[in-house]
Amino acid sequence: MSYTPEMRESIKKVEATRPARLGKPFPRMAPEEKQELLERFHPDYRPEGFREIRVGPNKGEKAMKELVDILEGRSHLTSDMLDLDRIDYDTDVLIIGGGGAGASAALLARENGAKVILVTKLRFGDANTMMAQGGIQAADKPNDSPIIHYLDVMGGGGFANDPDLVEALVMDAPLVIQWLESLGVMFDKEPDGTMFTIHGGGTSRKRMHSAGDYTGASIMRALRDEVLSYPEDITIMEFAPAIELLMDEKGQVAGAVLENLETGEHLVVRAKCTIIATGDTGRLHYQGFATTNHYGATGDGLVLAYRVGAKLIHQDTYQFHPTGAAYPEQIVGQLVTAKVRGLGAQVVNADGEQFVYHLETRDAEAAAIIRECTERGKGVETPSGMRGVWLDSPMIDIIHGPGTIEGRLPAMVRQFKRFGIDITVDPILVYPTAHYQNGGIAIEPDGSVKGVPNLYAAGAVTGGVHGRNRLMGNSLLEITVFGRRAGRAAALRAKEVRLGKLTLAHVDDWHRQLEEAGIGTNIVSPILLPDYTRKVR
Ligand SMILES: Cc1cc2nc3c(=O)[nH]c(=O)nc-3n(C[C@H](O)[C@H](O)[C@H](O)COP(=O)(O)OP(=O)(O)OC[C@H]3O[C@@H](n4cnc5c(N)ncnc54)[C@H](O)[C@@H]3O)c2cc1C
Repeated sequence: MSYTPEMRESIKKVEATRPARLGKPFPRMAPEEKQELLERFHPDYRPEGFREIRVGPNKGEKAMKELVDILEGRSHLTSDMLDLDRIDYDTDVLIIGGGGAGASAALLARENGAKVILVTKLRFGDANTMMAQGGIQAADKPNDSPIIHYLDVMGGGGFANDPDLVEALVMDAPLVIQWLESLGVMFDKEPDGTMFTIHGGGTSRKRMHSAGDYTGASIMRALRDEVLSYPEDITIMEFAPAIELLMDEKGQVAGAVLENLETGEHLVVRAKCTIIATGDTGRLHYQGFATTNHYGATGDGLVLAYRVGAKLIHQDTYQFHPTGAAYPEQIVGQLVTAKVRGLGAQVVNADGEQFVYHLETRDAEAAAIIRECTERGKGVETPSGMRGVWLDSPMIDIIHGPGTIEGRLPAMVRQFKRFGIDITVDPILVYPTAHYQNGGIAIEPDGSVKGVPNLYAAGAVTGGVHGRNRLMGNSLLEITVFGRRAGRAAALRAKEVRLGKLTLAHVDDWHRQLEEAGIGTNIVSPILLPDYTRKVR
């Protein structure tokens, strides 16, 4: 399935304007212009997409409706459903989530003397980490420094970021790259052996490290292999999602209840410390957007933490990646990595006109694309009625030399070739797609959850690091930096913890709070998988 004749007509216009666009920089937006654009076109600013949270630590604040629905959901359990004197597993550190944050935490918890159980909803490595393409940031070049990285992160996040978390992020970054390389991640190198780095949206230095466009797969493979090499200290349980956290009578978090996805059986895991690393919420499909996320990204960790009193930060802001595939239909919403723009591809409308600087921050780039396809009516229509704009990928080989696209973006080339589209010759049709929950559980720099004893969190499930907008390459960095920090802190804390009798009284209390707030919901959360995965045609 190649492009339709109507699309081909538009591509001719893109080709006609290409020579004039090459080497002619499009002006970046001024801050006021950007703010106005965001307020008019970014989904974060659509009041009809939001609702007030009526119960729990963020009561009175707003979030996307789909997130509020699951935060205000009922538990799978009530306290009388389980005999908590029957403990199935006992451990120092329980890690919930088998992506990059969970795996990093497991390694550092073990290194600091803990026995670890890592439980995950699907298979170990079925995670957004595995799908990450573009790269990971770290200021490790002579013309760069953690301070410049810090300023970029703060600027990208609208200066709403938690400064202590950003400091931890940028200061650990060079070390983390060395650690990943020592575990076997094959970063792209220059002929002289130094790291190959490029720009990402919002970076003022070239600090994006990559492994082709399989960066996440390369990182996840290395971390997973390392975890699997310590079976005596780290036990992996797959297809065993956590459905509720356990507390003890002293008010400390004390493990979790799991559900065996095959048998439906409940398992009680008692743990001195618990780390939530459950990732993102893309599969909630905010405002009906398609998503880049894997099927397990249903915000479970936010629900679990919220019910034991964890406060969420920036839960009202979500990142829509500007370049999701808009065609062909089979891959709508899947990511077209920001590295395509990082290598020089411009974003142009149906008439081949550039309308936005191609390396604006993601929020502004996405809003500009939505404006082009709606108010300005300059989008390209697909047979299913969707609209998108062109990402002019053939420019990359013109700028950097033939073979660059094949060499630097092999996954992208293959993804489109399956549908008869050659991105070295033709541009790619794109539209924003739900990508990343900017906010999440509020943590301290050591990964401990603010105000909840013995609970830690790391990775995409947390908030504060990225403020109100994450820059490309800072999530792979965040999951390793804070996964490591949480693993270490939890292992050290576990040496001091004395647990009391286990209880699920907080679940009954939660149900009481729902009732008092007049919330008669029939949503049971965490939802574990999106509804459509359960429907049989
Ligand atoms: C397509 C794509 C491309 C990306 N590209 C980049 C990039 O180039 N650079 C970058 O920095 N970032 C990128 N990101 C973002 C980044 O990859 C993720 O934010 C990051 O990897 C998240 O890691 P994590 O460990 O927090 O979550 P994940 O990797 O998603 O892992 C979460 C794990 O928790 C499990 N889980 C969920 N609920 C439960 C439960 N109830 N019980 C037990 N387990 C549970 C999941 O099954 C999964 O195994 C990309 C994301 C996507 C989707």
